[in-house]
Amino acid sequence: ISQWRNLMFLFLFLFVFFFFFFAFVLPETYVFMVQARGIQIRENVKNIGAQVLEQVVRGAYSINGTDYSYDFNESESDAPSTTYLPEGFTYLPSQVCPEKLPSMKGRLEVNMSEISLEEVERSLLEREPTMALGGFWKPKDCLPRWKVAILVPFRNRHEHLPILLRHLVPVLQKQRLQFAFYVIEQGGTEPFNRAMLFNVGYKEAIKDLDWDCLIFHDVDHLMENDRNYYGCTDMPRHFAVKLDKYSYMLPYNEFFGGVSGLMVKQFKRINGFPNAFWGWGGEDDDLWNRVQFANYSVSRPYGDLGRYMSIPHHHRGEAQFLGRYSLLRHSKERQKVDGLNNLNYSPLISRSRLFTNITVSLSRKLAPVADY
Ligand code: BGC
Repeated sequence: ISQWRNLMFLFLFLFVFFFFFFAFVLPETYVFMVQARGIQIRENVKNIGAQVLEQVVRGAYSINGTDYSYDFNESESDAPSTTYLPEGFTYLPSQVCPEKLPSMKGRLEVNMSEISLEEVERSLLEREPTMALGGFWKPKDCLPRWKVAILVPFRNRHEHLPILLRHLVPVLQKQRLQFAFYVIEQGGTEPFNRAMLFNVGYKEAIKDLDWDCLIFHDVDHLMENDRNYYGCTDMPRHFAVKLDKYSYMLPYNEFFGGVSGLMVKQFKRINGFPNAFWGWGGEDDDLWNRVQFANYSVSRPYGDLGRYMSIPHHHRGEAQFLGRYSLLRHSKERQKVDGLNNLNYSPLISRSRLFTNITVSLSRKLAPVADY
């Protein structure tokens, strides 16, 4: 009898368990999955829709008589290369580091899980104790080919920075570049000014070292291929060609956003970024125009080398800068009067283990523009 009773209890338990599972847990999970899928599809449609709209607006404004076409064609300049050095290739401390090292294997794992800055500092320094305060690093087994300052404009994205550092520092070390990170943080209450932050970052970085080139890097962009070389070869360069948020397509031919790079001498020649773009958008298009006016041509990494994932985030109230199209129409005239040459600021500088932090409060009166 007691055996029957145990069996009955077991059946009862299983019945109650499955009842709850099918009645509550399963539909919940299902509804959640459908919702998540829906959000993702909605996001993709929104991004593609925004880009199509962008083309229409661009067409209507026709900057300096140039009609922008909606061009999904790839415009990469490098030919595919099979010339990566073989495994076990050795070089000498007295030789310039090769560009296509065997350690650059190609496709990378992208880890977007959140981590604290302290944790990233600990693990990166454990691997490479030679990183100096401020994250200055150079290879010891060869002479670095390029000295590269990585400039990261920043506001309110504290969870993104350690993810970027965890991902990018080991890649730059594998690429045998001399580098340091500058995080330029905007204080004050004005809208975000990504371009002005880059100008400040440049002016401060060259006080440290005679950098060869500058990489303008969004904090939420993670490269997917370590053969996307951040050295100064073939600059000006647009690195972030294929973004997951644009379905891995170039949104338009002149897109210069996300991650781009210029040699210091080129950046000086074009008078840096404009200071007049407050809020989201346009400053990268203006940089593109400046580069064209100086008769440089932009190179891009070949094929899948230029793939990036962006860390998903909810837009934190950064308003689109709607005045960007009318400013862009006068890129050429403004270039002479707005940029590195009209910029004033008072930075607060501190060095942490992996980067230099430059905090600046920005306002319009710091970059007065003469008539043009
Ligand atoms: C903005 C650019 C931005 C691009 C892609 C354009 O409307 O002006 O700043 O990079 O869209 O999102």
